Amino acid sequence: MDAHSSTIRTDVLIIGAGPVGLFAAFEAGVIGLSCHIVDALGRIGGQCIELYPEKPIYDIPAIPSCTARELVDRLMTQIRPFDVPIHLSQRVQTVTQREDHRWTVHTEQGLTFDVAAILIAAGNGAFVPQRLQLPHADALEERHVFYSVPRIDDFRDRDVVIAGGGDSALDWALALCGVARKLTLVHRRNGFSAAAASVAAMKSKVEAGAMDFVVGMIDSLDAPDDALRAVRIKHIDGTTDIPADKLLVLYGLVADLGPIADWNLDVRGGRIEVDTSNYESSRPGIFAVGDIAQYPNKQKLILSGFHEASLALRKAYAYAYPDKKRVHVHSSYDAKLAERVQASAAE
Ligand SMILES: Cc1cc2nc3c(=O)[nH]c(=O)nc-3n(C[C@H](O)[C@H](O)[C@H](O)COP(=O)(O)OP(=O)(O)OC[C@H]3O[C@@H](n4cnc5c(N)ncnc54)[C@H](O)[C@@H]3O)c2cc1C
Repeated sequence: MDAHSSTIRTDVLIIGAGPVGLFAAFEAGVIGLSCHIVDALGRIGGQCIELYPEKPIYDIPAIPSCTARELVDRLMTQIRPFDVPIHLSQRVQTVTQREDHRWTVHTEQGLTFDVAAILIAAGNGAFVPQRLQLPHADALEERHVFYSVPRIDDFRDRDVVIAGGGDSALDWALALCGVARKLTLVHRRNGFSAAAASVAAMKSKVEAGAMDFVVGMIDSLDAPDDALRAVRIKHIDGTTDIPADKLLVLYGLVADLGPIADWNLDVRGGRIEVDTSNYESSRPGIFAVGDIAQYPNKQKLILSGFHEASLALRKAYAYAYPDKKRVHVHSSYDAKLAERVQASAAE
């Protein structure tokens, strides 16, 4: 932190804790740059963890096969020697360049960074919940309609409807069963895209009368006086009103470039155009790497992102230390790096 304020001063801000952002933090450390990482989500790993944690990946050099979760775990082990601070649930909002050419970056949640360079490794953009497109839904958000569970107590002794059929919906149905006064799970079909054990546990709770399960779609919200009273479900036989004062919608996440789209960068097809000699965007000092980078023949592959990050950070070094000449040392000959790695392995 800056001595005079709560602004965090560091060489590079990495936006995105997906595989490319994590590897970028390692590369930054190797070449002598300090960095912080921010991610809009509450956990690290980007697409690897959100979309396919248990799937095997076969095209990471020298790792013939590992699951996406294992890859993220390995990347975390690799960056441990550099103690990189990772700020989760922080979505970057605005960027301004100061007269001294450094950048001030604010997150929606109130963090401020003062950095020499910015590395955007934001994948397809921030994952945001898929929202209900129904009258009243926006006005009721965070009081009656929720897309996550910030506090379990908000649901205690309430009539709760949970909508969705994936892991999150099933996990929260099980977690809130017994907390809510009455709990109803609503899903458009009688099949789920969730772990088999969770589906079995949910079915046995329904059989025991601890919760209800209804097949159907949310048709409308009954919300007189700006307060939710019931959720109308449309199903094959007509409609049913389920009394509810809390509705938890867990329809999954969608990617959204969000505020980065307003950063005056050249953007094409939702991705940031870069110069392939250093992966710098149209604004010098802001780099884009990984899936968010756009250039001819770009391949959305993890290994491409690793290469892009490595070149981008070498250029970023010149912004952080304009008066220093960086001397390239192979990692196998880098005594300081070897020391750090050994110390971290011994912890
Ligand atoms: C099913 C599936 C299988 C795949 N299999 C392979 C494979 O076998 N091999 C391979 O190489 N690739 C594979 N890929 C592609 C690979 O996962 C992506 O190329 C890789 O995840 C891109 O990494 P990234 O770090 O650039 O972005 P992401 O993994 O998308 O991470 C970006 C992160 O940035 C965060 N973020 C975005 N916007 C903001 C913001 N405004 N503020 C803060 N944080 C933000 C997001 O929350 C996210 O966590 C697969 C993809 C899918 C979907």
